[in-house]
Amino acid sequence: MTNQMERIGTLCSDAEKGKALTREEIIELLVCEDQYSNIILEAADRVRQGEVGDHVHLRGLIEFSNYCKRNCEYCGLRRANKKLNRYRLEIEEVIDTAKNAERLGYRSVVLQSGEDPYYTVDKICKIVEGIKSSTDLAITLSCGEFSYEEYKQMREAGADRYLLRFETSSKELYKKLHPDSDYDQRIQCLNDLRRAGFQVGSGFMVGLPGETPEILADNLLLLRELDVDMAGIGPFIPNPDTELGEENGGLLIDALKAVAIARLLLRNAHLPATTALGTLDPRGREKALCAGANVVMPNVSPMKYRELYALYPNKICVTDDPGHCRNCITGKINGLGRSVAKDHGHTLKNTNK
Ligand code: SF4
Repeated sequence: MTNQMERIGTLCSDAEKGKALTREEIIELLVCEDQYSNIILEAADRVRQGEVGDHVHLRGLIEFSNYCKRNCEYCGLRRANKKLNRYRLEIEEVIDTAKNAERLGYRSVVLQSGEDPYYTVDKICKIVEGIKSSTDLAITLSCGEFSYEEYKQMREAGADRYLLRFETSSKELYKKLHPDSDYDQRIQCLNDLRRAGFQVGSGFMVGLPGETPEILADNLLLLRELDVDMAGIGPFIPNPDTELGEENGGLLIDALKAVAIARLLLRNAHLPATTALGTLDPRGREKALCAGANVVMPNVSPMKYRELYALYPNKICVTDDPGHCRNCITGKINGLGRSVAKDHGHTLKNTNK
């Protein structure tokens, strides 16, 4: 056994037993030779099984507007991208899409959009109330930054969870990638969401240009500090219609390692096998489900809009109808010896959320 193999084994076995990994130890895991990565992925899989079990939660993703007022350098929805045809679903259309997701067997939907000023808080609340009054679905919102009062209004309308990724914990890199956003404001929003009573999800991209193992370790530690209920971690995939179109993308193995370390650190948080992982590798989501992940978010948006929600190129499943996606993903989950959860998939943390 080599020294490094032994060292990775010891770190993982201690983490599995609940020892909190330090920043230096996380960096060691992140930079270990690929041949030893499986030690980390397998430890995370065992922690996943012990903490959250074998069920996989499905959340139906409804992308209801691809308009965005912001200009994040990596994102195909950025306002400077004039090549993209923009669309919005009307309020009733979003509610109908959610009803259809429930008919397909989903217990939970995620309503996602760019930061689209057309969708005021009142409109978002109307959608939430419309879905809550006609279905038994849990609702996650993912519509960007608002004030504490506005988040509170959305929570009072019935939304259960809110997803707002910080993307990187480096203030310097954040500023470079988000010319019109502020890192401190982002963190403030995450704290406001918690205060407003939401189950809070956040996350980051792996392999952003300018990222270092130290930054990645800090990303993971920030998730722990925020005590998130859910953490979405996916590889950076360059979009040719953006400022970063010529950059190298993140690697599958690095993203899988980050998911696995997140499981070792966050214990019973929900961790999605992100669509971006499935885009890098046809079995990317299955690999993530075997490396600590326990959630999948299949797209249930109407077919005619799917290709237009172009965060990055070659996104999977854009030509599959929602019924097909539901069956396909269930087959993949069953193929791993796991099963689709039948409950709403709320947070497993022991708090009064
Ligand atoms: S990452 Fe979000 S806020 Fe930034 S441009 Fe894309 S959709 Fe807009």
